[in-house]
Amino acid sequence: MPIDAKTITTKNTHDRFLLRACERLKYDAVVYELLLTASREIRLQIPVRKDDGSFVIFNAYRVQHHNARGPYKGGLRYHATVDMEDVRGLACLMSLKTALLDLPLGGSKGGIDCNPSSLSERELEQLTRKFVEKIHRNIGPTEDIPAPDVGTNAQIMAWIQDEYSKIYGYNPAVVTGKPIVTGGSQGRKEATGFGVCMAIEAYSAHYQQALPNATVAIQGFGNVGRYAAFHLHALGAKIIAVSDSQGAIVNNDGLDFSAVIRHKDSMGTVVGTDGADILDSAALLALPCDYLIPSALGNAIHSDNVDGISAKVVVEGANAPVSWTAADKLEQRGVKVIPDILANAGGVTVSYFEWVQNLQHFSWSLKKVRNLLRSKMNRACSDVFELADQEQIQMRDAAYQIATERLKEAIFAAGI
Ligand code: NAD
Repeated sequence: MPIDAKTITTKNTHDRFLLRACERLKYDAVVYELLLTASREIRLQIPVRKDDGSFVIFNAYRVQHHNARGPYKGGLRYHATVDMEDVRGLACLMSLKTALLDLPLGGSKGGIDCNPSSLSERELEQLTRKFVEKIHRNIGPTEDIPAPDVGTNAQIMAWIQDEYSKIYGYNPAVVTGKPIVTGGSQGRKEATGFGVCMAIEAYSAHYQQALPNATVAIQGFGNVGRYAAFHLHALGAKIIAVSDSQGAIVNNDGLDFSAVIRHKDSMGTVVGTDGADILDSAALLALPCDYLIPSALGNAIHSDNVDGISAKVVVEGANAPVSWTAADKLEQRGVKVIPDILANAGGVTVSYFEWVQNLQHFSWSLKKVRNLLRSKMNRACSDVFELADQEQIQMRDAAYQIATERLKEAIFAAGI
């Protein structure tokens, strides 16, 4: 039966884009259902003894979307907004991202509903180890491979690796994004931000836009935003504004990048950096610039603020920073969007390299990792730009179409 979009009730941004790809590919409604629905959803309760003797129960989630192309692969997020619906959407996004980059991996996502900054190191470690105690049968190097995401880091991956290894023996391939000393890869930490920069380089080369002196505004100065800024700055782009959870700063002549880094590292925020004016966080999104890179959380650009966006190109450093309705409005206004499944795929790509190195008990040089990342990103960017040009469609629709087709082919080839 063909898809009848009127009967689809989902509000999830990715589901809507997946639906549009399935319609373009003329898939039956049942194929859309198959691609949308996760293979497995796990919900856990984790009691943790606090330092003061009391105990708290945390809700944890892991959604394993599809593994027809390889083991499930996706980040683990520690954040107070985590819930099953959010994790479900992000797991589907991971299957599409790994397919678009043509990695032999599937897609998953997990999260624990907690505020990591309110937990002591011991409490965080206990929470993480207890999570593994409950989920170890469902993760593993050939099953599901977690990685860092918002609120988690290499240390948390090392605790997962250690807890898993106590049960199954030494096996660093169970997680990626871990410290280099426990089997992590060179170049993994900065891979997502570096990949964002590579996507912009590929875009500017394909559409003949000069990158030196291009103006850039970045929302979120964490792992993704900071390394994207670093590499774009090194290529001569002018970083005019950055923000974090405490506020935003601007200098239309270009921020003094070393001063921003020094201030962030010493004060924990970019706000107060010498030579920069303080800006309202919401106003950063409306700055006229060549590239706006939302790199914090989802839904940063939505129906209420989309009309104020004055960038030429929005580059989705975060996952789902542009809502479904805002995405079409941007397109109608001629603002291009380099979609998340392409722009921020550098992280999972180097995670794949880390997993391969672990399986071979071998480690590659930074140069090799970066060269391989560049070749994967360039290939995926060309695929997307060429299809978008050929069919006169949004880059996001082109990316979803390529990924959806690859995923569907693998599921049907494996047999259903
Ligand atoms: P992070 O926790 O390191 O950084 C997030 C940053 O956003 C911090 O600087 C925080 O202060 C800032 N922030 C939070 N709320 C804000 C707000 N309202 N306004 C401005 N800044 C705000 O997280 P990250 O790893 O950089 O991830 C950011 C996004 O990128 C997430 O959507 C994540 O899913 C996505 N992503 C991350 C990776 C990765 O490898 N880290 C890979 C792919 C996608």
